[in-house]
Amino acid sequence: MASVTFKNVYKRFGDVIAVNNLNIEVADKEFLVLVGPSGCGKTTALRCLAGLEEISDGEILIGDRVVNDVAPKDRDIAMVFQSYALYPHLSVYDNMAFGLKLRKVPKDDIKRRVQAAADTLGIQDLLERKPRQLSGGQRQRVAVGRAIVREPKVFLFDEPLSNLDAKLRVAMRAEISKLHQRLQTTFIYVTHDQIEAMTMATRIAVINKGILQQLDTPQNLYDHPNNLFVAGFIGSPAMNFFPGKLRKDGSKLVVDTGDFVVAIPATHTKPYEGHAGKDIIFGIRPENIHDADFIPPNIDAEKVAIKVDVTELMGNEIFLYLVSGKNTFVSRVDPRSKLRVGQQAQVAFDMDSIHIFDGETEQAIR
Ligand code: ATP
Repeated sequence: MASVTFKNVYKRFGDVIAVNNLNIEVADKEFLVLVGPSGCGKTTALRCLAGLEEISDGEILIGDRVVNDVAPKDRDIAMVFQSYALYPHLSVYDNMAFGLKLRKVPKDDIKRRVQAAADTLGIQDLLERKPRQLSGGQRQRVAVGRAIVREPKVFLFDEPLSNLDAKLRVAMRAEISKLHQRLQTTFIYVTHDQIEAMTMATRIAVINKGILQQLDTPQNLYDHPNNLFVAGFIGSPAMNFFPGKLRKDGSKLVVDTGDFVVAIPATHTKPYEGHAGKDIIFGIRPENIHDADFIPPNIDAEKVAIKVDVTELMGNEIFLYLVSGKNTFVSRVDPRSKLRVGQQAQVAFDMDSIHIFDGETEQAIR
């Protein structure tokens, strides 16, 4: 068990800055997820921690020890790769035992550790098989098992679920969360999938273009994104954005998109007062736009005229793709909604749940 610290870490490949001044403190036993779009530098950050890439600048600590010059095998970490990287000619048992044999761990000890890991992962019956005789999910378990037997201080996962089908991914997500609870060890997990990040992490680091955008709990990222990038990345369907202006209308402060105008409730205007007259981006999540016939009680609702472009009936909810002037956006409405394609109607924006971003800096205004 150990904490992990990235201190002003840079990784450059020629002109490309893959990791740009990364500062993260991962607490002991934490489950930290690094998430971001393809090419944002998350795998590089993990590989730097594993010692598979040398950092260009800064410090990486595992516990209190600076590991910049420590060989990968001496960092007391174990990594599970997207490709699983199993040896095809070795049995499951030997794949799991391989690293321990290299380290000259006594045979009895190896046996005990492999059996215990196999029990934990429910693969006791597969120990004699070769990797080609396993399903994708079983191979994934063996790769995790090989990491567990090392009894490392820190587990690193690099997109370990990407090669599994959607249903198995959901099941393995829950298993990895359970494993974290059982092992009580620090987990650092890389994914491009924000749902994986939201469901498993104690904290999430959102990265874009090598730069850390926000490090926070899943709920805080969802409720209080720092900037437009985080707001658009976390949440599915994504938050709707409308470029517009904030302006005074008598005693009211309103958002004017050019196509519709909505008033900000008087109780919420304080942070925005100084931005009256300025360009902003107005954000609202799909679940905060309601069919006007099914408005939840006690919200500050503002009506907006729309035309329904597409409907997706999900059973427990309906996704409506809506048009208002030049804007297209998504709402997630009550399954009893009768709104259908081509219809002109009104929807209600829950103005207690809005986000406003500076039009220039794209930072959240709070
Ligand atoms: P993905 O989800 O696609 O794996 P990622 O967020 O993990 O993406 P990285 O693999 O860390 O991204 O890559 C970050 C940037 O560094 C990219 O622009 C990539 O092209 C570049 N890069 C990574 N490895 C190397 C390398 N060995 N040589 C040169 N450039 C590299």
